[in-house]
Amino acid sequence: MTAQIIDGKAVAAAVRNDVKEEVTKLRAQGFVPGLATVLVGARPDSVSYVTSKRQACAELGIESYHNELPENISQDELLALINKLSADSKVHGILVQLPLPKHINEELILGAVDINKDVDGFHPINVGKLGMKGREPLFAPCTPAGVIELLDRIGAKISGSRAVVLGRSNIVGLPASLLLLGRDATVTICHSRTKDIAAVCREADIIVAAIGKPKFVTAEMVKPGAYVIDVGVNGIPVLNPDGTPAISEKTGKPKQKLVGDVDFDAVKEVAAAITPVPGGVGPMTIAMLMKNTLRGAKHAFGLL
Ligand code: NAP
Repeated sequence: MTAQIIDGKAVAAAVRNDVKEEVTKLRAQGFVPGLATVLVGARPDSVSYVTSKRQACAELGIESYHNELPENISQDELLALINKLSADSKVHGILVQLPLPKHINEELILGAVDINKDVDGFHPINVGKLGMKGREPLFAPCTPAGVIELLDRIGAKISGSRAVVLGRSNIVGLPASLLLLGRDATVTICHSRTKDIAAVCREADIIVAAIGKPKFVTAEMVKPGAYVIDVGVNGIPVLNPDGTPAISEKTGKPKQKLVGDVDFDAVKEVAAAITPVPGGVGPMTIAMLMKNTLRGAKHAFGLL
């Protein structure tokens, strides 16, 4: 069997298009959705993520209110900004780019975001609601929500399935597990202390891999016909034909390529469907952030 390759770029573009259509209609009625971005310091990866998020806002007609703060800002000053944004009626989503500098208590800052503007879905109340039967948070975390969106768009049956999630982080593994549970999958969560992960994975109809270990999931770990969603993003060295590391002529540094947590080439011969890296889950995160911001705006406008 050769798996269906799930085109995350196409699905993300479809989600973004849906959001754009709704935003256009809202703006025509005088309702303008707004996202506040908060960037502390100037880590190149964080700057690049925030820039992409703001570009997506511009493309979709969402106002973005950018807040760039020095690395050495005090916790109290940052807290004051979060409180101000939480009270600002133009702002329907607050995105605090992580990680924050070490001197700032991340839990305190994320806990100060108004739960009705928590478009990243990281507020403990929203995460708690995600895990409770009969409760629904206004927002689910973007990357795990993107995993579910991909499964839905390819018609995977989640209810009644056996799902195995590799990884239990607050950002991906745990919320992905809770979302799958909420959709009536029977969920097993694996982490660094789990014994015989291969045997656990072989039971799975759905595998979500989010551990940050290149090509960890091999073909032998996958039941024929399973759906495999690879969240992992790992840089590995590019090798020359003789096995030595390839060096970039431009930078003089070893060349790297991105791979996921799944051995894509081998697993695609076993799975029913699989996401590539890059081009699978990656593009979904910002698309789901835009969807969450629209949801926050509709909630604020009394349109949900
Ligand atoms: P993380 O916070 O480092 O968590 C990794 C998880 O994997 C932990 O729960 C850890 O277990 C578990 N783990 C580590 N080694 C393991 C092993 N050998 N066997 C079983 N479990 C193991 O990572 P994260 O933030 O969740 O990210 C996971 C991956 O997803 C990374 O590659 C990251 O780059 C990627 N990611 C992608 C996106 C996106 O595409 N948009 C977004 C976020 C993250 P313990 O809890 O026991 O330590």
